Order: sequence, then C-alpha cells, then structure tokens
Amino acid sequence: MRQSRHLGRTLREVPKDAQTAAHGLMIRAGYIRQLSAGIYVYMPLLLRSLNKISQIIREEMTRAGSEEMLMPAIQNKELWEKTGRWERYTAIDGIMFSFQDRRGSTVCLGPTHEEVITEILRQEINSFKDLPKNVFQIQTKFRDEIRPRFGLMRAREFVMKDAYSFDLDEAGLDVSYEAMRLAYHTICERIGFHYRAVEADSGAIGGSGSQEFMVLADTGEDTIIYCDQCQYAANQERAASRLEQFTQDTEERPMEAVLGEGLIGVEPLAEFLGIPVWKTTKTLLFEADGNLVAVMVRGDCDVNEIKVANFLGGADVKLTAPERIKELTGAAVGYAGPIGLPDNVRIIADFDVDHRVNFECGANQTNYHNINVNFGRDLPLPEFSDFKLAQAGHQCPHCDGTLQAQRGIEVGHIFKLGTKYSEALKCVAPDGQGQQPPVVMGCYGIGVSRMAAACVEQNHDDRGMIWPIHVAPYHVHLLCLTPKDEAVVARCDALYQTLQDAGVEVLYDDRTARPGEKFSDADLIGLPIRLAISKRTLEQDCIEVKLRKDADNQMLSQEQTLALIQEQLG
Ligand code: ATP
Ligand code: MG
Repeated sequence: MRQSRHLGRTLREVPKDAQTAAHGLMIRAGYIRQLSAGIYVYMPLLLRSLNKISQIIREEMTRAGSEEMLMPAIQNKELWEKTGRWERYTAIDGIMFSFQDRRGSTVCLGPTHEEVITEILRQEINSFKDLPKNVFQIQTKFRDEIRPRFGLMRAREFVMKDAYSFDLDEAGLDVSYEAMRLAYHTICERIGFHYRAVEADSGAIGGSGSQEFMVLADTGEDTIIYCDQCQYAANQERAASRLEQFTQDTEERPMEAVLGEGLIGVEPLAEFLGIPVWKTTKTLLFEADGNLVAVMVRGDCDVNEIKVANFLGGADVKLTAPERIKELTGAAVGYAGPIGLPDNVRIIADFDVDHRVNFECGANQTNYHNINVNFGRDLPLPEFSDFKLAQAGHQCPHCDGTLQAQRGIEVGHIFKLGTKYSEALKCVAPDGQGQQPPVVMGCYGIGVSRMAAACVEQNHDDRGMIWPIHVAPYHVHLLCLTPKDEAVVARCDALYQTLQDAGVEVLYDDRTARPGEKFSDADLIGLPIRLAISKRTLEQDCIEVKLRKDADNQMLSQEQTLALIQEQLG
C-alpha cells in the first residue's frame, strides 16, 4: 500500500482521553477513530491486524473441530425471556441495547449468542446421533458498558469470536472443552502473547469448568492470583486462599462493649484494643435481590462479593446504602456487627472467622466495639463458606507456596455451561428409548478486537507500537527517504514490486515528507521490519534495514534483505 494513498494520518500529540498506552498509540498511529464513547471506527491498519488475528483464531478453531457460521446481531426478546436473561441484561445490568422494530416487537443487538444458537440446535438435533456439534462465529457484539474505556479494551461495539459446543453428556463436554482449551493456548502462542490461563468464576452454576486467558499487562482490569510454587492461578474473583493461623486463647473471657471513638479501620482499632488485627472482624451489609445479608470476614481480609453472590444462588448483590445501614444497625457506618441485628438479616461468615477465641466485632452502636466475642456463647454459629478475597501474601490453597498478584487483560473465556440454556429452550437429544435429555453445552469466547489492543499494550515503547510479525498490519515499512530523486524513487518502486511479488506485505512510504517524519511515523505505526532507501544507500548499493524491536540498523544487500525478511516471516 502506498502511504500517500493510505487513510489514517498520524498524530504527534497523545490524545487527552487516552487512558492506556495502547489506546493512545492506536489513535496517534491512525489505527482507530472514536465516533462516540466506546464506539470506534476500525481504520485500515487496525482492520488488517484484526483480520490476521481472526484468521489465526479461525484456523485453530477449525483444526479443533469447530465449524464456522454467522448468526444475526438482531435477536428477539422472547428467546431471552425463556432463559430468564432479558430482565438481567436490560433492567438490572442495563448492558443490552434494545429497541422496538416497526412491527412493535422488542429486539436487541446481541451481546452474546447462547439463546440464538441453542434455539437453532433445538431445531437441528433430532437424535443423540446428531451430537456432538461445535460451531463458532466471528462477529460484532454490542454491550452498553457502564464504563467503556481504554479504547478497544472495553468498547460498546466490538468483535468477538464465540463458539458453542453441544454434547450428549458431561463426559462429552469434557472432551469438547479440552479441545477448546488447547486451541486457545495455540492461538495465544501464535499471536505471541505473554499470558496465563487462570481459573475463572463460573457464577452460581459453580464447578471448575471455566478458565480465562489473561494477557499480562499492568493496565489490565483483572487481578490474577497465582502461587509462587505450584501451578495454581486464578482470577481474583474466584481465587481461594489460606490464611495464617494463630494460637488461640485457652479461656473465653467475658464479652464487653468498648468505647473506641471514630475507630473504623481495623489497624488503628486493633492497636487501640491491644489485639492482633486477625482478631478483629469486618461485617458488611449487603442487599441481595432485595434480601439483607451480613457478611463477616476476618479483619485482615476483604469480602469477595462474587463469592457472596454465588453462595446466594447468583443474586444481584449490592452494598447496603449508608442511610439504610443506620436504620438497620442503629449506628453510624463502620460499627456493624453480627450481634443484635434485625431478624431479617441473614448472617454468613467466611471460614476463617470461625475457630477464634475472644474475637472482636462491631457492636451496632456508634463508637462501640465488642471484644472477647465467642460463637455459641454470645451469638449462634452463622453459615460458613469461603467469602474472602484472596490476596498476595495469602497462602496457596493447594501447597505451601505464597500467593502473588499480577494484572491481566481477559482476552478469552471458556466455560462449561451444562444444561442451563438447553433446558430453558428445550434443546434435547432424544435417546431413541423415550428419553429426551437436554444437551450439555459449553461456550468459548475470545475478544478479537480486545486482543489487538492487548497486543499493542504488551508490545510498544515510548516511540510507538512494536507489532509481532504474524499479526502486524504489514510486514515491511519501506521508506523512500529522498522522494525527489528519480533514481531513488525508481529503486524504491522496484523493491516495492519485488517484495509484493514475493508475498511480502508492504506499506510503502512514498510521501514527500522529510526523513525524520518518516522515521518517527514508522516507529509509531510499528511494523516489524523497516527498510529505508536514500541517495546514500543507493550509492552504496544497499538497503538500510532495521527491525522495530532492535535498537540498531544494518546495511544489507537486496539479497540479504530478502533473506532476512523470509527468516523473520518464519
Ligand atoms: P469482562 O469481564 O471483561 O466484562 P466478560 O466476562 O463479560 O468480559 P465474556 O462474556 O466472557 O466477557 O466475553 C468473551 C470475551 O469478549 C471476553 O473474554 C473479552 O475478551 C471480550 N469482551 C467482553 N466485553 C468486551 C468489551 N466491552 N469490549 C471488548 N471486548 C470485550
Ligand atoms: Mg468472561
């Protein structure tokens, strides 16, 4: 492509609203243009990378036995009502774009396609012999995100690869899931990501059948918790951990309410009371689908709201508003405790709240703290489960290792769905003996456009992008440094032709701009191989070659240059 005809000018200034390196670079290098919040134009350079990423995904999905199809973006409300997701996606989460068509039907722009594909499979499957099936599509998805940000990372219109598997039973699902898991690893490796596959939250359905593929980057929105000794790695939303245990008092002391004015944080409180922080307790009040729930965790921990929601069967969990907390506890915010709460408050506690002798908790009275509290004597045993947020420094749930934390960008998510959708939509596989069991499903997503952003986030320096060659918009950036010199132009034109004939993809900077501008644009756009030809290189009968990832350039003959390009293309 001749750059004089290329659409997408480069900008010198970092856009004010750019929140991450990738976001700023994509705008500056002319890869994207924003139309409105979270809605982007994919300019020619980006589209080329997206197509390459899609192609890698397509090849690996096909190799893993999945078949490509394409479903409509417009979906009808009725299907979503059958699975009970309409309400959640519209009224509760508000993530769905929906509107009325001229016939008066309510429709939406698909944020995901479980409903549609299950409905299609319901019609296609006549017998158990029709299974298994696995299909995928690469398609634009629509989600009215509360906080669209970081450019393509969290957009409201974005490209996703979504795949769905249909099996007779759990064993079949395990096989389908494993094939997808391996394909995801190959996809991430082919793109060249530094990434980690981690255990992911699988909602109230539970089970271990959900993994996310996280590209490692400090600007990632997710926190990964991993063990420094074993293979354990999980999204913090799901991660389990063990806490250090301490020797307990041998005798229970009498409970008392102690005045400790304004002491809300556990550290000053523990210091004031002369007790270790692990003896303090945090009690947080939540509203879960309108019901009141008090959650207790050890003072040195935080509550993981997702674990709470899952325990409560996938409820919509929100922290109770300060005004309501005052009504319920009779105290200012920060003094809530499990003793003396109204009867309609369900009390649940993290496992590590238990087995403590003489612990502290809020007294439901402003400025007061109960000390020497003991389960059984001062309050009944609450319901225990795992409600704490795993953090760096906690112990690994599987070995003696210590947990560490790092940030990641979720680029893919694979999930054992089970029969949730097939039951709701009556997608069954008649077994020939009168039984009609629902098919067992899996779903597998990849954020294609998010992958492009993650790729830039992971591969850039302060001058611009550094694309890995297999997903770069073009392989080579050919710079004509003296565009007024006919001999140089002729040499460049000839090389441009030779490279294209050899199947090399070239962005040819044939503009009349100065060399300095061409070099800085080349760095910004970030194509892996830069070739520059000037009067001087022509005199020496060589080409100035520089790999974007390397600091130095080298002078090579045309033959050597072609060999180097082929080597880079692998
Ligand atoms: P997130 O937790 O980031 O909101 P999700 O878990 O809701 O994502 P999935 O439903 O699992 O997303 O979608 C599959 C993939 O689509 C994700 O792994 C992610 O890579 C991508 N994706 C999801 N939402 C967006 C978005 N708003 N913009 C770009 N990509 C997205
Ligand atoms: Mg996900």
